[in-house]
Amino acid sequence: MAKQKTCKNEHWPRQALVTGAALLLLLFLLPLFLLPQEEPPTEEPEPTATLPLLTPASVSPVPGWDQSQTLRLLRSDGRVENVTLADYLWGVVAAEMPASFSAEALKAQTVAARTYCLYQRAGAGDKHPGADVCTDSTCCQAYLTREQASAAWGANAQRYADKITAAVSDTNGLLCLYNGQPIDAVFFSSAAGKTSDAAQVWGSEVPYLASVDSPEGDEVPGWRTVVTFTPAEFTQKFTLAHPEADFSGDPAGWFSALVTNDSGAVDTVSIGGVTVTGTQVRSLFGLRSAHFTAAAGDAVTFWVTGYGHGVGMSQYGANALAGEGKTFDEILKWYYTGISVGGWEQ
Ligand SMILES: [Zn+2]
Repeated sequence: MAKQKTCKNEHWPRQALVTGAALLLLLFLLPLFLLPQEEPPTEEPEPTATLPLLTPASVSPVPGWDQSQTLRLLRSDGRVENVTLADYLWGVVAAEMPASFSAEALKAQTVAARTYCLYQRAGAGDKHPGADVCTDSTCCQAYLTREQASAAWGANAQRYADKITAAVSDTNGLLCLYNGQPIDAVFFSSAAGKTSDAAQVWGSEVPYLASVDSPEGDEVPGWRTVVTFTPAEFTQKFTLAHPEADFSGDPAGWFSALVTNDSGAVDTVSIGGVTVTGTQVRSLFGLRSAHFTAAAGDAVTFWVTGYGHGVGMSQYGANALAGEGKTFDEILKWYYTGISVGGWEQ
């Protein structure tokens, strides 16, 4: 008994000391974990000067989710490689959005890209047998390897790489959901005041792809472009696609009956007596968008505003909204009508 007592008396102070030391250590370390993760000072000002330093997250990421998803990625050289969704998304965001954009815009882009990827994978069918996604922007989404991105970014490479890594991990597992399912989260570069309704561009109604206001404007590089053809070039291109067109009259009458949709983009226009859609004209003459006016005379001229198909999220619009202080989920809900942002309960 005596021995036991002695033993206890000898051990108690040591245990108390160890516990005390651990508590003290915790007290010193805890504030380090609670400190906001600030971006390192930058050489050039970010376009988000009005954003508070720490934006409260209204939706929480799902740690580990992107790392648990594996994709078969078809590379441009034909190799198919297994990559995690986290790695794939890094390359997509690097390729699809300027890395100089603000953090909330990059996060909105990441969630849109993650959602678009899963939506595409579910309905991929036999677009590329043996692979879930490819690196061709006209088929799936654009993609840059770390080396390609680094070369493109030059002196900013490390800072931009870190920004994209943060955008992916800060939104881990988050998707745009409609009726609990990932949406067709299409996006494009810049709008001319408003986005377009999916029905007006692709002919079928999608409830969450409705026309909404988009705040970007002349600050966007190449927002307004002018495209000119000689009358011979113009009539040749058009006649190749529409042999029935009649360009025998005065060029001033070649364009008629131009009808615009709610977003101001060209819905239909008559060219040489043939009615075509704005999207067809855009594709035929390589215009940056279907938001244009046109005139024919000694030359045929298109005045074009914005860049892209105009449906879903505008990337420059997302950056403008982020500059106004909107968070990534607010930006996504702005462009995709009636959605929620969260983890996917399959
Ligand atoms: Zn593809």
